[in-house]
Amino acid sequence: MTTERQFIRCTRLFTGLEDEVRRDQTVVIEQGFFSYVGSSSQAPQPAAGEKVIDAGDYLVMPGLVDVHTHLVFGNARSEEDVDFWATPEFRAVRGLFFAQHVLAAGYTSIVVPGDAGNCSIAVRDSINMGLFDGPRIAASSNVIANRHSLNDWFPEHVGTPDYMMGRLCTTRDAQIEEVRRQAKAGVDIIKIALDGAHFRGDGTHIAAFTQEEVSGMVGEAHRLGKRVATHAYGKEAVMQAARAGVDVVFHAFFADDECAEALLKSGAHVAPTLTFLRNNIEFSQAHEPSIGSGYAAMQRRVIDIGCRNLRRLRDAGVPFMTGSDAGFAVTPYGEWHAREIAILVEWLGFTPAQALRAATSVGAKLMPRGRPGTPEAAAVGAIEAGRRADFLFIAGDPLEDVNVLLDPDAMAAVHVGGRSMPITRRPYDRNKVTDLSSLKWTDIYTRERVAALNDKASQ
Ligand SMILES: [Zn+2]
Repeated sequence: MTTERQFIRCTRLFTGLEDEVRRDQTVVIEQGFFSYVGSSSQAPQPAAGEKVIDAGDYLVMPGLVDVHTHLVFGNARSEEDVDFWATPEFRAVRGLFFAQHVLAAGYTSIVVPGDAGNCSIAVRDSINMGLFDGPRIAASSNVIANRHSLNDWFPEHVGTPDYMMGRLCTTRDAQIEEVRRQAKAGVDIIKIALDGAHFRGDGTHIAAFTQEEVSGMVGEAHRLGKRVATHAYGKEAVMQAARAGVDVVFHAFFADDECAEALLKSGAHVAPTLTFLRNNIEFSQAHEPSIGSGYAAMQRRVIDIGCRNLRRLRDAGVPFMTGSDAGFAVTPYGEWHAREIAILVEWLGFTPAQALRAATSVGAKLMPRGRPGTPEAAAVGAIEAGRRADFLFIAGDPLEDVNVLLDPDAMAAVHVGGRSMPITRRPYDRNKVTDLSSLKWTDIYTRERVAALNDKASQ
């Protein structure tokens, strides 16, 4: 945090709250907060020695918010990578490293929806204490899971040992106890895996919890001052989330008009997080299990149906946020976060300004705030007097083409709390950092298979 005033002269300013770009504006920053945003002609004047930065041709806009970044997955290629191959201690340190890559992409705030142990809490605290630079973090802990839900991936005899991301809570008491444990540990947000991995005869998802269980967990989380996020593809899970008052619903691909009504009534936000699916179908190579198992093909179908339903939610007025599911091999840290903004425009019919608001002032609603009346109560996500001074200098015009935000050369400056951050993308060796599993082969070499391969080679 800086103590003196700073003045930013902006030829072009996007506040994150409006449709248009303002011209000839001045932004004043004091103690890490915006104290004035308005026309240069009416702006306070800098005293001798106060810092004045001319943004020149750069567009000045708020720091971006990714509401779906898994800080400790380490660019995982499998659920085993997520859960088995790195110690919690290493995952936290690696998460702190990758947080720098996220920040360098212009993302000054991230929500971590599900994590292992207290890793993202530790990363958040070390950044908040000023030990390291990094984005602001809304931290979470284990994903609350039930039998056959997401995050109960492994066979029954494995379950969810402590070091895993999921935590099986199969009774009402265990669910409430886990919410309280996480609140005590210091999470900002609690993630519940509402979708089950079972389907009805007609192909629809069966939710993993009952409404009573979901409402119980969400009610207790809110009573303890914590936000709730949930994974929900299926209609049943989306309806449960809306009725229980969940703060953000991820995906909502199979939500219908009844869901739209329930979501509007509850005030919940939707974050489609289509980047993961789009990258999977566009990047996966023919030899990969994602293709061979039919996973990518299934996701292609989900995208078709999901986009139709999401457009209906948007038309009904459900507010959207942007998240990328960063942390997987198809969504490595710092690379594709802004693709979700492009998806909102290209697939869901948002204007660039609407999509940029989703990625700034709307997404920022999930970020933790301090006690009312304290400076920490100030929000992020927009360039407005009273908010925290998180902002970017962009070469190019994202209101013309949001894809400019995917260009590393466009990210000219990143400020958090009025402080200029070093844009560091320290290279790393993925084989050392991420590729820790013992997988050796992706094929089974029977005589028949070897003969077939030899045949193919000789053709
Ligand atoms: Zn996720």
